[in-house]
Amino acid sequence: MLNETHRPDLRSWVASANDGATDFPIQNLPYGVYRRRRSDEPWRVGVAIGAMILDVAAAHQAGFLDGEAGRAARTCASPSLNGLMSLGPTSWSALRRAVSDVLRDDTDAGRAARGRAGSLLLAQEAAEMRLPADVSDYTDFYASVYHATNVGSMFRPDHPLLPNYKWVPIGYHGRASSLVVSGTPVVRPHGQLAGDEGAPPSRAPSRRMDYEAELGIFVGRGNALGDVIPIEEAADHLFGVALLNDWSARDIQAWEYQPLGPFLAKNFATTLSPWVVTFEALAPFRVPAFARAIGDPVPLPYLADAADQAHGGIDLQIEVWLRTERMRNEGLDAVQLSHGTSRDLYWTMAQLLTHHASNGCNLQPGDLLGSGTISGADKTSRGCLLELTWRGTEPITLPNGEVRRFLEDGDEVILRAHGVRAGHVSIGLGECSGIVRPAIPLTF
Ligand code: MN
Repeated sequence: MLNETHRPDLRSWVASANDGATDFPIQNLPYGVYRRRRSDEPWRVGVAIGAMILDVAAAHQAGFLDGEAGRAARTCASPSLNGLMSLGPTSWSALRRAVSDVLRDDTDAGRAARGRAGSLLLAQEAAEMRLPADVSDYTDFYASVYHATNVGSMFRPDHPLLPNYKWVPIGYHGRASSLVVSGTPVVRPHGQLAGDEGAPPSRAPSRRMDYEAELGIFVGRGNALGDVIPIEEAADHLFGVALLNDWSARDIQAWEYQPLGPFLAKNFATTLSPWVVTFEALAPFRVPAFARAIGDPVPLPYLADAADQAHGGIDLQIEVWLRTERMRNEGLDAVQLSHGTSRDLYWTMAQLLTHHASNGCNLQPGDLLGSGTISGADKTSRGCLLELTWRGTEPITLPNGEVRRFLEDGDEVILRAHGVRAGHVSIGLGECSGIVRPAIPLTF
């Protein structure tokens, strides 16, 4: 799984990639779609390197990427990653290796590229980002057993986990049209809110707006309608991950969710970070699949694979930060609300993908699978306010004295994630942020 591109001693001629603090050292090489800010340049695929972006198609045109890597690079002169995602792991790996060579400070390609840095690089500060892929379908799972147990225990204290949970990955079909890129404001939704003690519901802005800290998993190659993806082949269909905030209106959700699950409580906005970190880049941070408790069922055979059990988990440290409007006005930095890890997911990403296609449902390049809220056993690792404040019954007092049960207008939620492992260079996923804007006044 590890190769030349993961070597911890690699350094880039892009100085900001070597500072030890960047999310984007040369061992990462995530893909995103960008253009120069305030321009009408075409959107194109770039690779984040330190504080800069490498224009992949420009590097190809300048002769730096040839063979299989060149073929893959040709898909990068487009406003989405879908073309690259559709190619499969041999092409992804060839392009990663060639881009690494171009950005290294100790290769012929790197020395030549450095001389043309002006035409190959753009500062991230000078760029605007769009969604990395055209997502035609988005499915959100519920893969954290700690999240499922916490939420279940609020509603069913005696049997928080429903009997299917440990057998079948639970999910619902989300909505792709309201996916937005990090930095896009999120407007507080209106919805039906249950009335008190049998009174009829009212229509009003949500009073219980929340975030959910998740990973967004991008499908690479898809499968034809009617075909399945055996779990042994799942890794060949998984392209990479980004951060995902599944904004949720808990009061709308509580009233509408039975019997068919989330609907308008979730589909008003879902925020994605702009950079997709490939599964190849994540190789150093793979861990065994979640260790099931004694007495838990073993997965059915179609979800059981020795290799997936051995290293199908991923240890990404997920942080949630909050910055209120008052904190911004007072010049205060964001405050950390929680810190969890994706190794606490009960199902591996391969299991989620294989299960999704197990009925012959066709997945397509650029399809997005949300992990579900990532929470752990510890209280500090709870990935949404519903859990952190226990439905608002245990409010959080912020350092400046403000109190939160749920999100207020002006609140900015920032998700961050890092892979950290001794002997390897840490990599990050960048940021996934959004500010809550007030509800639009009702006109009908
Ligand atoms: Mn969710």
